[in-house]
Amino acid sequence: MPSAGRFIDRSLLLVCKDVLMGTDSNDESKAKVERAFAQRAIDEARKSPGNARVGAVIALGDKQITTGYKDEAPGLHAEQVALQKADAAGISLTGASLYTTLEPCANSRTSRVACAQLVADAGIAVVHIGEYDPNPQVNRLGWRHLRDRGVRLRDFPADLRTKARQVSEDFTQVFTKGTGMSAGAKFDFTTNGGRFTISVDATAGTHSWETSWSNCGANAIYLNGGRPGVVALARYAEKFDEIDDPDALDYGHHSSKIEVGSIGVMRNEYGHVLCKVIAIEPTVDYGGSGHVSVTVRWEIRLAEDPTG
Ligand SMILES: [Zn+2]
Repeated sequence: MPSAGRFIDRSLLLVCKDVLMGTDSNDESKAKVERAFAQRAIDEARKSPGNARVGAVIALGDKQITTGYKDEAPGLHAEQVALQKADAAGISLTGASLYTTLEPCANSRTSRVACAQLVADAGIAVVHIGEYDPNPQVNRLGWRHLRDRGVRLRDFPADLRTKARQVSEDFTQVFTKGTGMSAGAKFDFTTNGGRFTISVDATAGTHSWETSWSNCGANAIYLNGGRPGVVALARYAEKFDEIDDPDALDYGHHSSKIEVGSIGVMRNEYGHVLCKVIAIEPTVDYGGSGHVSVTVRWEIRLAEDPTG
């Protein structure tokens, strides 16, 4: 029969264990719990119809409260779904943690209230983010809004960030990859190392060019080759059809400064991609606003024998 004495002894033992082990065991189990919820948010994201897949989990300590995924209710973001479920169940979210595969939106262009605001209004204390929004117009705006509202921001562990990115890849690639023999794109040149992959088509293993862009003020941008022989400026050319043989250009520098309206060329074994810089929204240092981007149009000229 258990006595009061034995009960006290056991409590003391637990206290001693904590003193001996410090907080390591607590931190470890907390990290395990956080990891499990981050993984669950990714699992939720996989349920999203369409290609912009986002999942969310709301938890209090190690207890899951609600989940949501994008378009679980048509037109609703994952966080909205999870928040509405908690609201419908009459559960207070004060002090709760949100795990979301994509940072909450902050400047919705529709009349909808942005998720970052809804999350902060609900009293959520911590937000764990799987990926920052790859759209240069909104990248890290959600993070900033939550930070300004006193919400603690955490990132998913690195391997789960990769998973979160993979799950939304069709959506993300709009901002890091472009396809087509003649096409265009707008992307943030201050994220992802300024890399933008241009491919003939979306087939895996198709001929691609890894273009890389970096800041050069308000009216120009650097196209980087990393070493001489890769990039050139088609000086004075304004149209692609004004360039006869792109190999005739000067590839002597490791990067080329391309002004707005000018054409830069990147070459590799597959041939050339001619990139015309249409517009630059420069960094804050050069009078830009909160987001930065470059808009380019390109034309691919395949080498005559790309395999040779
Ligand atoms: Zn949202």
